[in-house]
This record gives sequence, structure tokens and C-alpha cells, in this order.
Amino acid sequence: MPNPIPNRLRPPPRTVGLNEADRSRLPSCSDCHLPAFGAFKTPHGCRLCGFCWGRLACLERLPCPGARKHHACRGAVKFHQDECSPDQEARLQLSGVFIECWNSSSGCLYIMPYMKLSTHEAQECQFKLVSCTGCHRNLLRRDLGDHQRSDECRQILIANLGNYGVPNDGDNMRIRPPPRTVGLNEADRSRLPSCSDCHLPAFGAFKTPHGCRLCGFCWGRLACLERLPCPGARKHHACQNAVKFHQDECSPDQEARLQLSCVFVECWNSSRGCLYIMPYMKLSTHEAQECQFKLVSCTGCHRNLLRRDLGDHQHSDECRQFLIANLGNYGVPNDGDN
Ligand SMILES: [Zn+2]
Ligand SMILES: [Zn+2]
Ligand SMILES: [Zn+2]
Ligand SMILES: [Zn+2]
Ligand SMILES: [Zn+2]
Ligand SMILES: [Zn+2]
Ligand SMILES: [Zn+2]
Ligand SMILES: [Zn+2]
Repeated sequence: MPNPIPNRLRPPPRTVGLNEADRSRLPSCSDCHLPAFGAFKTPHGCRLCGFCWGRLACLERLPCPGARKHHACRGAVKFHQDECSPDQEARLQLSGVFIECWNSSSGCLYIMPYMKLSTHEAQECQFKLVSCTGCHRNLLRRDLGDHQRSDECRQILIANLGNYGVPNDGDNMRIRPPPRTVGLNEADRSRLPSCSDCHLPAFGAFKTPHGCRLCGFCWGRLACLERLPCPGARKHHACQNAVKFHQDECSPDQEARLQLSCVFVECWNSSRGCLYIMPYMKLSTHEAQECQFKLVSCTGCHRNLLRRDLGDHQHSDECRQFLIANLGNYGVPNDGDN
């Protein structure tokens, strides 16, 4: 996936449901004069929206952009980005203002308080342009499900299998059981590095202090604070008399991780309908950013539903009414940098 575009490189979103008088009372940017979402204060007190702040030079001191427009700060000292600070007052005032999604021009009809925008776009917007983790084509998120079942995507994924690096996946794995492998016969599977506790392939593996290998899931079940016997010992494993240890005394098992990074697995959400298969190292990203069958919580009404149903759901009255009814309960986002 490409890095999400930080707010500071995005123009301010369009506000919704405000008349001109309402809009004129919102804190505005000294440069572009739009509502100052993600605002910063310049050293001499001008207010810049996150976008105009992001266009300031990083290293070179330049005059305040307000000065270009005959603003009161015309003769102000020069400054650069890092000399500005987050404008908490403007951010608080703007956090509950309803806005359109950044992807409204691509078809997203969702409206939400500004503070929800980054999360909506990163995790749920069906009209966000994303890069397929398999073949790296760019497409709308809502088209990923069909696309990833297509031969066109799978063939590229399989052709590039050798080019993937080693994931650092231990922390994502520890509360999930190992995913099911795909396309291996029993002999192949028996050659994979396996867990001393559950005997499944040791995805996200750790080494215990005395040399046992635990999958990320079994490692995650070790006690954090109390030293206990190795879980291998429960199963008459060679480490029966080994010293006790806890989680932090284990270290990532890079050898097992390397061997398993390219093994094809089913998605964790296969039981909910995701048919995508991928090298293990893509699993966390697939699930976090693109899986249409992941159970997610709507940023508006907090109902749980499948990501693929979010688009329809968020246009529904049931969701909008709940969002609007709870408008007073939102906190203040810290949004300038993401
Ligand atoms: Zn601006
Ligand atoms: Zn200024
Ligand atoms: Zn959207
Ligand atoms: Zn693809
Ligand atoms: Zn295990
Ligand atoms: Zn052991
Ligand atoms: Zn999936
Ligand atoms: Zn909702």
C-alpha cells in the first residue's frame, strides 16, 4: 500500500450544512481563507490551515504566506514549518463540523464530523484509491474484493512470489491463531518450521530462552509477568525440565519467519467469505486495509459490520441519524500530522 496521504498534503474538505453566516464564524486560514482544519499558529500569531502550513518550506525561512495577501503580518519575521505550533483552539472548534469525504468526487456520499475523516478514509471509505497488496494495481477499495479473486491479480501475485521481503509480524500475530496454509501437501507442510506447543506452522515465531520455537499465537499466550514452564513441556516435549520464563525473555525467530513469509495462506476472514489467498507477509496489511470481509466498527454509529457493507450502511438514515444525535459527544482530534 502507498503511505496514506497526510492531512497536511490535502486541501481542506468541503463543509456540509452550513450557511454563509455559519461558515464565516469558523476559524479560517490567513492564507487560503478556508476553514482552518488541522490548524497551526505561526510564531507571530497567524493561523494557517494544515494544508497551507504543509506548503511552508521546511528548512528555509520565508515570509508568512498571509503577507502575500496584504495581511497584517506583511512585515513579519520569516519562519519555517517547525516554528509553528498546533492551534488547539481552532482544532477544537472545527472537530465537530460536518464535512464531505475527501473522496466525494470519486463517489463517496458519506458526511461526518471532521475528526472522523482520517479514520474513515484510512479504514473504511469504499471510494479510496488503494494499491492492491497482491499486484500493486491502483483501484477503488470497493472493487478490491472482485479484483483479488480474478486471475489477473493472482497470476501477478504468484509470479512475484520470490520478491517479497521478511515481515516483522510478531506483534500482529499474537492474538490470532495461525492462518491456514494453501496449496501444500502433507509432506510440504511437515517441512515448515512448526510450533513446539500447537504444532502448526510457526507464523510470527519466537524462540524461547532454551531454544524452543513458539508460533506468535502461543507466544502471545505466555504470561507477561510470571515465569512459567515452557508450554512445550505440557506435551512431553524435550524441554520438560527447562527453566521457567516469560514473554519478554523470548526473541523473534528470524529464521522461521523468513521461511514462512512467502507461504500462501487463507485470509483470517475466510470463514466470513474472503476468498483471497496471499503470502503470509501480506496478511496483516490485507486485513487492516483492504479485506472486504473484515468485521469493522462504523466510525459514525459504532455498529459492527463487514467492511464491504459500510458503503451502503453509511448512506442509510439509520447511521446518519445516530451520528448526528451523538454529535456533542466527540472529543478533540489531534489531526495535524496524520
Ligand atoms: Zn489554508
Ligand atoms: Zn502571518
Ligand atoms: Zn469516503
Ligand atoms: Zn491485485
Ligand atoms: Zn503455536
Ligand atoms: Zn520448551
Ligand atoms: Zn480477507
Ligand atoms: Zn454507521
